[in-house]
Amino acid sequence: MNPTWLLLLLPLAAASGWYAALRGSRSPRTVRSDIPQAYIKSLNLLLNEQQDKALDVLISALETHEETVEIQLALGNLFRRRGEIERATQLHQNLIARSGLEPDQRLLALYELGQDYYKAGLFDRAESLLLEVAEAVEYSESAYRLLLQLYEQEKEWDNAIDSAKRLSEASGEDLTGLLAQYYCELAEERMASGMYQECAGFINQALTSERNCTRALMQSGRLRAIKNEHLLAIREWTKIVNLHPEMLTDVVGLVRQSYQSLGRLSDYRKFLERCIELNNDVRLMMTLVDLLIEIGQPNQARNRLLTWMRNTDSLKSLTGLIESGTGGGFDYRSDRSLDFLIDLVSVLFGKTRSYECRNCGFKGKSMHWQCPGCKNWNSTGPSRAAPLPTGKIDR
Ligand SMILES: [Zn+2]
Repeated sequence: MNPTWLLLLLPLAAASGWYAALRGSRSPRTVRSDIPQAYIKSLNLLLNEQQDKALDVLISALETHEETVEIQLALGNLFRRRGEIERATQLHQNLIARSGLEPDQRLLALYELGQDYYKAGLFDRAESLLLEVAEAVEYSESAYRLLLQLYEQEKEWDNAIDSAKRLSEASGEDLTGLLAQYYCELAEERMASGMYQECAGFINQALTSERNCTRALMQSGRLRAIKNEHLLAIREWTKIVNLHPEMLTDVVGLVRQSYQSLGRLSDYRKFLERCIELNNDVRLMMTLVDLLIEIGQPNQARNRLLTWMRNTDSLKSLTGLIESGTGGGFDYRSDRSLDFLIDLVSVLFGKTRSYECRNCGFKGKSMHWQCPGCKNWNSTGPSRAAPLPTGKIDR
């Protein structure tokens, strides 16, 4: 054996890599090779850090150990990691076509080939291989995890639900929140096609899977509103007010539409007041101010805005400065002062609503139930209003 080969792998002998992880607790078997199995198992660590060197080592090892399945599997894995999908695919296909493979070697080769197809975007082929491999207990978790990604990309929500349930069985993970999102996806599709009865069924399933799922409650209200059941719609959205105050700025627009349809904008005002008590968000305050102006109560709008500014820690000093008239004789009781205050708050906090993923920090202008950055579900929410610039305001 080439001494370089041993030298490279020796420090890794004690570690275990993907090969061991994939194989889980399967029973030991004889390796038909004179290369110690521990070294092969540890190869993945080497592959991660020194790919070019690992490739040289593997290719030279293959010259003397052509029949060694483990080396071929490691090489195929390495090709895929390097983006050489065609080479990986070819290698795994040849391996599977070989006679005399042990059943677990064949399963591993199929799983690897399934990953090649997935990477190559050949989803149909990847799906059928992964479904076959997932039947084996030791591969269930890995295969269903990859199938979930595949079904999400293909927006095959029924299949995603089935895979999530099986993944939960295999791994013991609580995937009820994820399942609720998949049911919401189905509900959204049905709502868009006017299939309201089916839509309601999926919303119920989402809420059964995750009680108080924000998205399902929003959908439930939207479905009621479509049917002109506005009070019931508002009741659904009001649940979100208490459960998820951070989502209020998204809910108020929906509630407004329903109150407007009912001709009860005064009740919408009460709703907004209650929301502001729960969540002192500047955007809610400005929504109330806009409403008061709209219904012809500019004085109330100004007073309400000033009261809010006086009670908001970061604005106290500034409000005091404005009210004392320092810096230009500003009269806060004049008609023009309302526009000034609105402009001031808008400049300080920004008017644009933005959303941010708690998991990866991805920022966007619209709400994504699945983060476009990290692909996590339900980890995106409204960003906090921009804080005031730091620095003291001297009086
Ligand atoms: Zn993210």
